[in-house]
Amino acid sequence: MSWWLSKKKKKFPRHQIKLTEDNKCPTMTRVPEEANPNRPLDGQPLHEIVGEVQNFKVGDRVGVGSMVGSCNSCDNCADDIENYCPKMIFTYGGKYYDGSVTYGGFSDTMVVDEHFAFGIPKNLPLDAAAPLLCAGITVYSPLSFYGLDMPGLHVGVVGLGGLGHLAVKFVKAMGTKVVISTSPGKQKEALENLGADSVLAANGTFDGFVDTVSGQRPLLPLLGLLKSHGKLVVLGAAEKPFKLPASHLIQGRKLIGGSMIGGMKETQEMIDFKAKHDIKADIEVISMDYVNTAMDRLLKADVKYRFVIDIGNTLKATW
Ligand SMILES: [Zn+2]
Repeated sequence: MSWWLSKKKKKFPRHQIKLTEDNKCPTMTRVPEEANPNRPLDGQPLHEIVGEVQNFKVGDRVGVGSMVGSCNSCDNCADDIENYCPKMIFTYGGKYYDGSVTYGGFSDTMVVDEHFAFGIPKNLPLDAAAPLLCAGITVYSPLSFYGLDMPGLHVGVVGLGGLGHLAVKFVKAMGTKVVISTSPGKQKEALENLGADSVLAANGTFDGFVDTVSGQRPLLPLLGLLKSHGKLVVLGAAEKPFKLPASHLIQGRKLIGGSMIGGMKETQEMIDFKAKHDIKADIEVISMDYVNTAMDRLLKADVKYRFVIDIGNTLKATW
């Protein structure tokens, strides 16, 4: 099976990527309906895709993340934040320039505009690279944009799933002290295996939070934990609007912000940062025939921390 992007409206040089040989591992993740109204009709989005280029330079290792197109003419595109382009095209469940639907990583081959393919460094295993292309950049970008990547800061990570475990690792690599705020059952692992410095601490002690939780959750306790000028960055969608008393923002001049994936330039920077600092996503490589079981496990949050599907049963887990 393959899906092809239309060649009628060519915006950038295109790469054909073969996903049928050794290295192909779209990562499976669950996106809430409310966060992705354009999701595919037939299932879960696979939007962290790696493979080998065929037609441009055979053998190059590349990846495709959540985007496969943008207008290339708006201010956001000019500022390298294509992810906020009003005409950004999602890799899955999006409408391409010609109106055809994009189908993500459930395919043997795909064609992508050169601009929307990332280079994967040779020292970065492809299966571990795949989770970076959405989860990795989703946590890396806000840490950078909101100035939470400075050594010595006290940053909290809320939620310890696919995004949260990568956030802990990035924060540590940036030289920032990381505190994990999560369920008691995960605290031991966060401290011993992921490198968190401590578990949730006292009010008024945090410079910022990255909140990776999806669904309803109270933000008020997190605001209380922030120092003056502290920043709470929301990354996960919720079904209902948040309820917040303004006084909790006014007192201490606190800020709540949001963030969604990242631009192409910043994503490549993140991939190179990860390779340089040897940051490893924790993954579980599965075969295609395990997908339904994996979906059931995802609904129970029973995965550490990302499934990577080996469509051709040719990958071996590297850790
Ligand atoms: Zn644009």
